[in-house]
Amino acid sequence: MITAAAGLEQGSLSTRHSINCSGGMRLGRWFGCWKTHGANIDLFDSLAFSCNVFYYQASLKMGNPQGSGPTYLATVARGFGLGRETGIDLPSDEAGLVPDPAWRAQVNKSRPDLARWYDGNTLNMSIGQGDVLATPLQMALATGAVANGGTLWKPHLLQKAVALDGKILKTATPQSENVGISAKKGIALPHVAIAGKTGSAEDANKVLPHAWWVCYAPAEKPTIAIAVMIENAGHGSENAVPVAKAILEAAFPAPKPTPKKAP
Ligand SMILES: [Zn+2]
Repeated sequence: MITAAAGLEQGSLSTRHSINCSGGMRLGRWFGCWKTHGANIDLFDSLAFSCNVFYYQASLKMGNPQGSGPTYLATVARGFGLGRETGIDLPSDEAGLVPDPAWRAQVNKSRPDLARWYDGNTLNMSIGQGDVLATPLQMALATGAVANGGTLWKPHLLQKAVALDGKILKTATPQSENVGISAKKGIALPHVAIAGKTGSAEDANKVLPHAWWVCYAPAEKPTIAIAVMIENAGHGSENAVPVAKAILEAAFPAPKPTPKKAP
């Protein structure tokens, strides 16, 4: 989602652009896709079918894959709230990590062999793998920003604090910022009917990836955004989707059948 938004905003990607997915691409080593998607995979197909190759190529089209390209992608990702604390009114708030060449050089100051940013780091980043770390809350907020056309809301649990005598001690004021992407460039993707996206996040220590599913609903006029992450549960759609479905059913209960009028 974010790589698509960044490419569209930069102009290096368009909704008319399509690629051929032969199951992966070689750039030093082999960077795989989960499937051979074949010819004419455009932006909408790539989102619907989770084609990694589309995003590998999109990230390379952003320019210098060892410098300005990934730095730009990282800036857009941070605009969507990744790599920084959300500011939620709860005691634990994690920043996660959006890597870029400057970060890599900084953390590996004493290890020149690791300090360099390779083209492959850009490919990993384009699909949210490698060093990228994000929390489910960050992903829900970023999905919300995609749904609403570019506003990133600061999450809060507290609506208001009321004293025993009824005096209102504190009221939460909703705060937002703009992600810095113009909505008209297609980020809202208004004609995508199913506004959901699977993900699989590799876990270096475990065999199965973390299952992710993010979505917003209703697709045409969204009012909620959801992020589901189940640790080491395999690929997103089989495991995380049923959880999102239960949340959606609670948020949008089916209308009760109207009772038949007595004759
Ligand atoms: Zn593919």
